[in-house]
Amino acid sequence: MQQDDVISAIATAPGEGGIGIIRISGNGAVDIANKIFRPYSGNSLKECTPRLANYGKVVDENGKIIDEAICIVMYAPNSYTCEDVAEIQCHGGNIVMREILLLTYRMGARAAEPGEFTKRAFLNGRIDLSQAQAVMDIINAKTKASLDMAMDHLSGRFSDTIKVFRNDLLSIIAHLEASIDFPEDDIEEFDFEDTKEKIKLLLEKIEKMLDMADTGIILRDGLKTAIIGKPNAGKSSIMNFLLGQERAIVTEVPGTTRDSIEEYVNIGGIPLRLIDTAGIRSTDDIVEKIGVEKAYSYAYDAELVLAVFDSNREMTAEDEEIIKLIDNCSGNIIIIMNKIDLSADLNNDILINKLESCKHAKICGIVPMSAKKGQGQDKLEKLLSDIVYGGNVKIMEHQALCDARQSEILRQTAEFLKDSINTINIGMSEDFIVIDLRSAWEKLGEITGESLDEDILNQIFSKFCIGK
Ligand code: GDP
Repeated sequence: MQQDDVISAIATAPGEGGIGIIRISGNGAVDIANKIFRPYSGNSLKECTPRLANYGKVVDENGKIIDEAICIVMYAPNSYTCEDVAEIQCHGGNIVMREILLLTYRMGARAAEPGEFTKRAFLNGRIDLSQAQAVMDIINAKTKASLDMAMDHLSGRFSDTIKVFRNDLLSIIAHLEASIDFPEDDIEEFDFEDTKEKIKLLLEKIEKMLDMADTGIILRDGLKTAIIGKPNAGKSSIMNFLLGQERAIVTEVPGTTRDSIEEYVNIGGIPLRLIDTAGIRSTDDIVEKIGVEKAYSYAYDAELVLAVFDSNREMTAEDEEIIKLIDNCSGNIIIIMNKIDLSADLNNDILINKLESCKHAKICGIVPMSAKKGQGQDKLEKLLSDIVYGGNVKIMEHQALCDARQSEILRQTAEFLKDSINTINIGMSEDFIVIDLRSAWEKLGEITGESLDEDILNQIFSKFCIGK
């Protein structure tokens, strides 16, 4: 269904670029474009062939030329939103794009909300919710593996799997309901065991997806990673080395990283959300103190902690502090022995001994590194891959991966399925089993958007960028 309020937005990234695109969508979008765009062919835009580029000029209400541009019109349902769409490709300057955008408003369009074009594509049934989310994931993909996962969702492969699950559920429900409605038709006793087996099979499939849920969430959102270590151990240098650019300030004065810096870095296809925390040591400097406190709290709830030690210096009380901190962290820990290009003055045995005495820390391995010479990344990549894929990268190619929202829905669906098995086990009647299974069916529909309330929908699309 084509919406009568026409929306308009700059669809290209903010800032200056070679070209910028203003996208207009809705019933009347082409009329609006027609008022402001004059093809050099002399035809009116409405006479031009849809989906072909028209070269011309953008003019305001007084006929003043604002820019030379290309305009493409697409008619419902053959467009991204399934509505009438006009796209004006103008020069990518902030002012010129803004002028054209304001002109579209004056001609009757209104400003599009974040994600509203994609929301319309969803509401018009062109894509389902998991595909709509994939559009945003493609834009935000941090690594090639993240992109592959998003493309898999956009292609509809993930939604198809969910739809098959829902159909399986529906046929079990239909079978149960038939036995409730027409008990006299049932010559044989209803086969509860068979129903239970079918539910168990579905539960297994969902649980298999849930096993890989963490991988999907990491690929999409990045692994929340804290780099900790005493001042001058080389935390900022390691972050810069991993980033491949000078982002954090590297200095020879201890305690100069006052606040924390967050960046994404791609390590062997795994996106790390890196937080470089201030050097951890006791200090009287108030600003640094706040930084140190922050560092502690980041480290406590990071999913991965890179604990950096300076192999060129003997162990100090500050290093011992770090080891104590590690023991209270809930995430995986990788120990980095930095500065291996210099003489090895840190006594490895003492360090390893102390690390072994950590009772709670999940230490995944020790990586000798030199941030300065760029050594050690291979081993770090290998360890990370083991953490994220559980040592089985290949599995990824055939496995549908889900994000945090989807995995929560799957988890709740699994609970409903377990309830239904319980209901059968305690000998309750078909009606009660159906209630559990219907809840599971409804829940699963939230992934594709078949059952979802307006608020959740708005919440999802509000995370999109404007113009998408
Ligand atoms: P942070 O306080 O832990 O962030 O430490 P920085 O990254 O600022 O590094 C402190 C000093 O150690 C700087 O002079 C760096 O150049 C030096 N440094 C860092 N990593 C290495 C390394 O692998 N080898 C050598 N030789 N020096 C390093």
